Amino acid sequence: MSETVKGGYAGQILRVDLTAGTHRVQPLPADWPVKYIGGRGFVARLLYEEVAPGVDPLGPENKLVMAAGPLSGVLLPGCGKTHFGAKSPTTGGYGDSNIGGHLSPELKQAGYDVLVLEGQAKEPCILVIDDDSVKLLPAGDLWGKGCYEAEETLKKRYGEDFQVALIGPAGENLVKFACISHDFGRQAGRTGVGAVMGSKRVKAIVIRGTKTIPLADPQGVYAMGKQMYESCFSKPGFKKWTPYGTAEVVDWVNEIGAFPTRNFKTSYFPEYKQINGVRLREEIRQTDKGCMGCPIPCGKYSKARSSMGEAMVEGPEYETIALLGGNCCLGNIHDVAYANYICDELGLDSISGGNVAAFAIECFEKGLLTEEQVGMALSFGDLKSVVHLLKLIAHRDGVGDMLAEGVKTASERIGHDSAKFAIHVKGLEWTGYESRYSPSQMLSYITADIGAHHNRSWAITYDVAVGRDTLEGKAAKVVELQHTRPLFDCLGICRLQWVEIGFDLNWYETIFPKITGINRTWQELLHVSERVWNLTRAFSARHVPGWGRGLDRPPARFLEEPIPDGPAKGKLITESQMNELLDEYYRLRGWNDNGLPTKERLVALGLADVAADLWG
Ligand code: SF4
Repeated sequence: MSETVKGGYAGQILRVDLTAGTHRVQPLPADWPVKYIGGRGFVARLLYEEVAPGVDPLGPENKLVMAAGPLSGVLLPGCGKTHFGAKSPTTGGYGDSNIGGHLSPELKQAGYDVLVLEGQAKEPCILVIDDDSVKLLPAGDLWGKGCYEAEETLKKRYGEDFQVALIGPAGENLVKFACISHDFGRQAGRTGVGAVMGSKRVKAIVIRGTKTIPLADPQGVYAMGKQMYESCFSKPGFKKWTPYGTAEVVDWVNEIGAFPTRNFKTSYFPEYKQINGVRLREEIRQTDKGCMGCPIPCGKYSKARSSMGEAMVEGPEYETIALLGGNCCLGNIHDVAYANYICDELGLDSISGGNVAAFAIECFEKGLLTEEQVGMALSFGDLKSVVHLLKLIAHRDGVGDMLAEGVKTASERIGHDSAKFAIHVKGLEWTGYESRYSPSQMLSYITADIGAHHNRSWAITYDVAVGRDTLEGKAAKVVELQHTRPLFDCLGICRLQWVEIGFDLNWYETIFPKITGINRTWQELLHVSERVWNLTRAFSARHVPGWGRGLDRPPARFLEEPIPDGPAKGKLITESQMNELLDEYYRLRGWNDNGLPTKERLVALGLADVAADLWG
């Protein structure tokens, strides 16, 4: 490790070869903390170096990487974040997903910054890491069990001080939008990382660490950590946001006409006040639930009393409300929470799950899927339809086998005009912001490095603040956010303290050297984030033919169908507007007209090897 690094890292990578049933520990490459910081940066670098173009995402040569950042596990607001990544079975390109809870602190205390799962086990297994002890054990009858039941079993077997990351039946059955679950309701939901774990036949990773995380300046970290908590508690947003968590924005998103409704046909759900944060808080919430060290716990542990039965579930948070609620037209918070529970138990990403269910219902309404194929008549607003579809998908039962591939592949198989309303970018289903009247949010979605995902750049507030009809300044804002937000994933800490309650970014710049001993200005940290952004773009360009401008596109519905009603009635994005945004975006990034990082830009970012791979 570089001599300038004095703390924040365990300094080791743990590699588990599932084919051979062995493991080995290697030192963290000396330049990684400085060049990639951690978390998402480590995942991106490792996948770039070790997963070659042509590798089957669900084959033994793909790797599932779990990584912590330098701030992970250091008692600071939001320090429980962990990053998972792999070549994505959903898009074929770079894939990753972030999860809250307690995993990365345990990983680092066990002595590792990165865990790499390589190869493929012959039989279903669980991986148990207890500091230096690393064991692969038969999964036994855990295989086939739902996430809640399996996690409870493992917690009872190993004890509460072990943390568990696991898959449900969807991951075992290689559903392309299967998630990795943790802490009874937290998920790394996106890009099919759960399917990759299933392809390796690993039901669960169980971790306990008891070592001390080294810090460059322990007293300084303690003093500043205290101030950071005090600052969080004093923010005006603290009292407003915490009671509802992310569900707080349901009203606002409807009022601006951006709420996914009826498979994104429209952007306003008339029943939104039945599924908003207030309904969540008043009708179903039992208690708040947060990640390690979080002063603003966004998790709401809830009890659903739906028409199909009762269930305890963490959530629903905003994305689930948007995609299982508005998008499937479930206008009752109990029904949304119950559908959420079904996704969680089966190990399905509720964002893609809501998209695929809504897509199937629209196909049914249009006569492209029949009652005989599906096993029942489907309709929007019907919990039974949604739950029926989710179960078919998780078990790849009947038409569920096709739907388990996601809306892109399903639409290619169904044909007719279904591709127009298959709502995805590059194969990854859209998240909770309908963007026909939000140019910067639209640009965020079509350029996000993993496909349609909002968390790389949540720019819709900027559209509203500066005017939704203008394109001016939008590309620059998206680039800025695409560097700022992913930086939190590299640091290994939650961004919501900054996004939601206005926590000052300066804190991170100031605490970083006290933890690591590395002095960096915020701009220098953002430069690292830009490096990682270019690295993941290059990864995908090498793995997926045509990755670039040709795939930086929204679905046809957003280009051809004006929003039919609500506050954004009549709006859509035109081809010429989209191209104007992309031209400016590529120019600002120093990419070519086709949206690929140029040789010069890659070299300037310290990625000469990547430039050579891409351009010779
Ligand atoms: Fe976890 Fe939510 Fe707190 Fe972030 S805001 S650390 S996701 S509980």
